[in-house]
Amino acid sequence: MGRRKRKIVRPPRKQLPKIFLCPRCGVNAVYVTSKDETQALVTCGNCGFKVEVPISPTDQPVDLYCKFTDKFYSRHS
Ligand SMILES: [Zn+2]
Repeated sequence: MGRRKRKIVRPPRKQLPKIFLCPRCGVNAVYVTSKDETQALVTCGNCGFKVEVPISPTDQPVDLYCKFTDKFYSRHS
């Protein structure tokens, strides 16, 4: 008579990348911090380039990063 201990297997949660490639200096050092509920600050830890972007309720860090690169390229074109 054996009662098996049931192992709880949790599916691994997919981790979204939190550090991104900087379009300015090309270093993987860009991170997203939220200023408040409506504004996020996307900063490059290497060159110090930072952009404030608006947050939408559905935005993931990667979406904010996209807005950051959009602003970068629109500013430099
Ligand atoms: Zn940079």
